[in-house]
Amino acid sequence: MNVLMPIPGHVDPVPVPRAPSVRADGRVDLVGLSRAAIREALEAAGLEPKQAKLRAKQLWHWIYNRGAIDFTAMTDIAKAQHPWLAERFVVGRPEVVEAQVSTDGTRKWLLRSEDGQDFEMVFIPDADRGTLCVSSQVGCTLNCRFCHTGTMRLVRNLTAGEIVGQVMLARDALGEWPSQPEGRLLTNIVMMGMGEPLYNFDNVRDALAIVMDGDGLALSKRRITLSTSGVVPMMARAGAEIGVNLAVSLHAVTKEIRDEIVPLNRKYGIEALLQACADYPGANNARRITFEYVMLKDKNDSDADARELVRLIRKYRLPAKVNLIPFNLWPGASYECSTPERVRAFSNIIFEAGISAPVRTPRGRDIDAACGQLKTASEKKSRAELDRLAEEKQAALG
Ligand code: SAH
Ligand code: SF4
Repeated sequence: MNVLMPIPGHVDPVPVPRAPSVRADGRVDLVGLSRAAIREALEAAGLEPKQAKLRAKQLWHWIYNRGAIDFTAMTDIAKAQHPWLAERFVVGRPEVVEAQVSTDGTRKWLLRSEDGQDFEMVFIPDADRGTLCVSSQVGCTLNCRFCHTGTMRLVRNLTAGEIVGQVMLARDALGEWPSQPEGRLLTNIVMMGMGEPLYNFDNVRDALAIVMDGDGLALSKRRITLSTSGVVPMMARAGAEIGVNLAVSLHAVTKEIRDEIVPLNRKYGIEALLQACADYPGANNARRITFEYVMLKDKNDSDADARELVRLIRKYRLPAKVNLIPFNLWPGASYECSTPERVRAFSNIIFEAGISAPVRTPRGRDIDAACGQLKTASEKKSRAELDRLAEEKQAALG
């Protein structure tokens, strides 16, 4: 019997703990706050409104345009005020636990939040661009059957600061401060790391507003893509309030198969999802919606599936492109990747219908950085192992 599991999320909230906004040391991290919130924080700490406004503007520029992490570097702020700021505020970065480089140049960082939660980000360099794959949650509540992240037990939303912090860290690592309009290595952002971004809507929206701000990181909305597994009720708001490119993890064209591999489908079916895509503001032939489709052997990869995909895209008149993703293996996965011949045949059927259907080259597989492979190392260790490690650490400290 197919027992329906409850699907948690924004509309049916689950206890997804929010991170603390004040750090353990009592200071407030300015990264992730809007300009107005920085001004309010300064006022709350005792600055006159007029001065708070000016300081907020200066801080913003130093933090997001220049990449400063130390108040002493902020030369247009009176020296006497540096210690005052440092006592109350920090310009934080997620802690880097591990940084790995793949043989193909892909880089993966294991990051740790202030309260000890691990998450990952991936940088994928190409000839003409560099794409940062950013996480929105620690783990994910949606157990897509082919995705490693979905098997993590711990889940919490990342704060806006932790999301922006990933971009800041990447800029640090690539040596890209101050923010340059031309010749950047980091040119694109995809919200395709760990987590479902539309289940952490407010923080993702606030973070991306900072990333797109012209006097800061200044990435254009045309170079940012948000991927959702299909949280239909949040898609209109995503279009209106965030306005970046949309990617949808479709992965199957029948109810039976999509219910199995993307369980959220039991809540928001294919037809409702495609209607939400048709209604997505800003989608047109110049800015197409990307349909992601993971190629699973004998599951969703037949000629009939490809033809049905074409039919659906036409039915809803979607300005669409299809991104075929070879399934990336992870330990314990119960699927296999389609053969290269099958992927090609599938791609050809879509292509012949006039819809672009490139096959995504897997990147960073050797360091488990490819799509669906992200799962933090600490989670891979058992509780017993973690306890033992903690004891060893304690012992070493005497
Ligand atoms: N949660 C969002 C974004 C993160 S996943 C979403 O699901 O859209 C980024 C993409 O990788 C999604 O299309 C996801 O379905 C795909 N993916 C997950 N596991 C995969 C795997 N093992 N092999 C290939 N792609 C995978
Ligand atoms: Fe979550 Fe996306 Fe993985 Fe599904 S594919 S479990 S929505 S991260």
